[in-house]
Amino acid sequence: CGVFGIYAPEQDVAKMAYFGLYALQHRGQESAGIATFNGHYVHQHKDMGLVSQVFNETILEELVGNIAVGHNRYSTTGSSRKVNAQPAVISTRLGHLALAHNGNLVNTIQLREELLQSNVHLLTTTDSEMIAYAIAEEVNAGADWLEGAIRALHRCQGAFSLVVGTPDGIMAARDPNGIRPLVIGTLDSDPVRYVLASETCGLDIIGAEYLRDVEPGELVWITEKGLTSHRWNQQPQRKLCIFEMIYFARPDSVMHHETLYSYRMRLGRRLAEESPIEADIVFGVPDSGIPAAIGFSQASGVAYGEGLIKNRYVGRTFIQPTQSMRETGIKMKLNPLKDVLYGKRVVIIDDSIVRGTTSRKLVKALREAGASEVHMRISSPPVTHPCFYGIDTDTQDQLIAAKMSVADIAKKLEVDTLAYLSWEGMLEATREDTNSFCSACFTGDYPVAIPEQVKRSKLM
Ligand code: 5GP
Ligand code: SF4
Ligand code: MG
Repeated sequence: CGVFGIYAPEQDVAKMAYFGLYALQHRGQESAGIATFNGHYVHQHKDMGLVSQVFNETILEELVGNIAVGHNRYSTTGSSRKVNAQPAVISTRLGHLALAHNGNLVNTIQLREELLQSNVHLLTTTDSEMIAYAIAEEVNAGADWLEGAIRALHRCQGAFSLVVGTPDGIMAARDPNGIRPLVIGTLDSDPVRYVLASETCGLDIIGAEYLRDVEPGELVWITEKGLTSHRWNQQPQRKLCIFEMIYFARPDSVMHHETLYSYRMRLGRRLAEESPIEADIVFGVPDSGIPAAIGFSQASGVAYGEGLIKNRYVGRTFIQPTQSMRETGIKMKLNPLKDVLYGKRVVIIDDSIVRGTTSRKLVKALREAGASEVHMRISSPPVTHPCFYGIDTDTQDQLIAAKMSVADIAKKLEVDTLAYLSWEGMLEATREDTNSFCSACFTGDYPVAIPEQVKRSKLM
């Protein structure tokens, strides 16, 4: 999911939130929502669909106020329905709160039970709504916003990057491992106006300046008095999702002082060093494989070109073709350049293989276009385990590398050679402490323990 927040006292903030969500659209295409606070009045609009489909000028004009919270949803817990759209807006003793969540809790079964026992009537099926109700419960028991939120965070386990709007100010918090990203930006200096976003591309679009990350185990509280920082967890241990770095986040977003484009190029360089191959042309699967393909070309000397053209307008929500149409389905999105590929030994680079269905169709299309050899290189290791922290990489039985060796996958995909980047290569290329990342989908080494019951839902 994508989350966004803004506190700008003299401003109508809904349009800012709209643009922020627009830049974060890649993080979720299922539903979008914005809630604004105008003193104690809360206004909200949310619906299924893309940001550009959900909002228009008239709707945005009605969302008045000086605090806004926005959300793009990508469902992991809870079904794909309008009631599950965020922000979750609920009333408390101190007024409404509006919560936007990115991540996935692993202790929802326990939390749900606790909330039901204290007679909280849960409206939806999401873990995000449970966090909102936990905060409300603490506030209704007498806590103020800050204290109530901190108490509620202690009841949550798993991945959570949160933005919470209230009539008095806006909060942002991350779980003690900081699994999902969350950044703080500023607009103007006198007075400072604060912006919160999942990624820095959500700041760039409205001209906000990157200030810093919300730290793992930190809660920031932004009110008319400014920003205060609260270390709500005393044992933070950084475990940023490496999948954000290799695939999920936008290449122009900055993490660890550089764009992810630069990191992904280094992945490609390393891949060329680890698994070289003689070929005539190297290209990436648009868009996610392109930076690594450029790096691969630079390090190997294999000429960089384009072998596939992507139709930019095929979204996730397009009308599904019939079964017979689906056989040729991949060409709806990606079309090979026949005269570039004909008679050539090609290296095709992608960031990851999850189920292997896309890759298999692509290889077939390249051969039909006349490629004489097809070598596939992947800029991450084999995905062998499901994610429980908010990335929808499916259940383990759907993961091609959970069941097959690299040699068998190569056969299945009908490539001449196949190589994945090593786990060390992926982590060393970050130039950060290699212990400061979650890479559980490549290793099964989950940084936050998964309850048995939850494990069984996704593991073979
Ligand atoms: P596959 O060959 O596994 O069908 O597809 C691999 C492609 O899916 C890669 O290009 C990668 O960018 C993309 N991908 C990686 N992770 C995910 C994910 O969690 N969900 C979806 N929908 N696509 C993903
Ligand atoms: Fe990211 Fe994989 Fe960890 Fe999930 S399991 S948080 S996708 S690194
Ligand atoms: Mg891709």
